[in-house]
Amino acid sequence: MLLRFLVSTGNYLLGGKSKVPLEVYVSRLTTCLHCSDYDPEVEACVICGCYVRSKALRANEQCPRAFPLWKVHKTEEKPIT
Ligand code: SF4
Repeated sequence: MLLRFLVSTGNYLLGGKSKVPLEVYVSRLTTCLHCSDYDPEVEACVICGCYVRSKALRANEQCPRAFPLWKVHKTEEKPIT
């Protein structure tokens, strides 16, 4: 899990810290909060160990399931500032 977090953070920094638009963030976070792999005690995904509030904000992130519940966001829409 720590390795996934470090890779994710490295990709985020190398990718210019791009964030998703607000509506994408809300959609991703809502999905995570209702997911069976979400641990509300630590507010993290039990598969990757990521803190979902941060993970959902990063455009280069994707749900770690084999069939992801949300994917990498690729667009030039205005991100959250
Ligand atoms: S990232 Fe995917 S598997 Fe993890 S809590 Fe969110 S929706 Fe569930």
